[in-house]
Amino acid sequence: MLLIATPGETESWTSAFSRLAPDLPLAVWPQVPDPTAVRWAAVWNPPVGMFQQLPNLQAVFSLGAGVDALVGRKDLPELPLIRVVDGGMGAQMAEYALYGILHVHGRFDVLRDQQARGEWKDPGIRDAADVRVGILGLGALGQAVAEKLVPFGFDLKGWSRTPRSLPGVKCCHGAEALADFLAGTDVLVVLLPLTDETRGILSADRLALLPPGASVINLARGALIDESALLARLDSGAVRFALLDVFSVEPLPQNHPFWRHPRVLVTPHSSAATLRRQAVGQIVANITALKEGRSPSGLVDRSRGY
Ligand code: NAP
Repeated sequence: MLLIATPGETESWTSAFSRLAPDLPLAVWPQVPDPTAVRWAAVWNPPVGMFQQLPNLQAVFSLGAGVDALVGRKDLPELPLIRVVDGGMGAQMAEYALYGILHVHGRFDVLRDQQARGEWKDPGIRDAADVRVGILGLGALGQAVAEKLVPFGFDLKGWSRTPRSLPGVKCCHGAEALADFLAGTDVLVVLLPLTDETRGILSADRLALLPPGASVINLARGALIDESALLARLDSGAVRFALLDVFSVEPLPQNHPFWRHPRVLVTPHSSAATLRRQAVGQIVANITALKEGRSPSGLVDRSRGY
């Protein structure tokens, strides 16, 4: 039996599993008539202490790509933790990132200011090859963004923990490559997981390495960035534009300066959502793999944190 525990989103997941995997017996937290029958749990922000009530649980499925909220939990059992890989989010992320890049490349921020002044002025020649786009994180989502961007002709590069190779993308890896990467990036797209190693990785010192007038698009997690330092750089104009989907505190508090900052576009953690059909397909395939003693795809390395 699969237990679904997704406070606030139960209905869409339950109907997706019922429709797409009709043979899989389901329970929905907290209505679990027989907790001993639960072998699998598909979760997003499950209640603390829930896992301890499931004595025969064999694996935990995260219904999202990011597992930072789960791996940090003391009540997470020592069982395989399996995440959704892409799950239709790559395409959505790529559209979102593209919007942010085109915003600055097309100088729509400058044009908007000119319009407010009734000023008719061509903002100058645009050549995509002059825009250095740097993607931090070349996993499932970073790669999907990179693939979408290649045909646009931007000067593309990506950074990861271990070596990666992607057509049309200059790849580098490891902590020692980060300073040069940031110094040569006009539009920074952040798609790293939040782990012990990456928390606060875009510190004040690292943000200061970005060239004057760089832009930041954060699609991953707010706590990757020193938000106060980013705000200071936005205030001074050192950072020209920030497209922010994620924040260290969510919902973003009403009085937070990001809300009304002229250089910031805030979105409510909505850049990409797990497509139910794809996630259910991955979970069903992974349950089969586990039953047959094969390794599931999307297995999280808990010591690494992603
Ligand atoms: P992923 O497949 O696990 O890829 C993570 C990438 O980050 C990999 O390239 C990895 O390097 C790199 N990385 C990890 N730690 C690093 C370090 N210390 N230094 C350098 N690179 C490091 O993750 P994903 O599926 O692409 O998702 C990325 C994140 O997006 C998720 O963790 C989640 O937080 C976020 N997300 C946000 C939303 C939203 O709605 N805003 C939706 C979905 C996901 P290697 O390639 O060497 O492993």
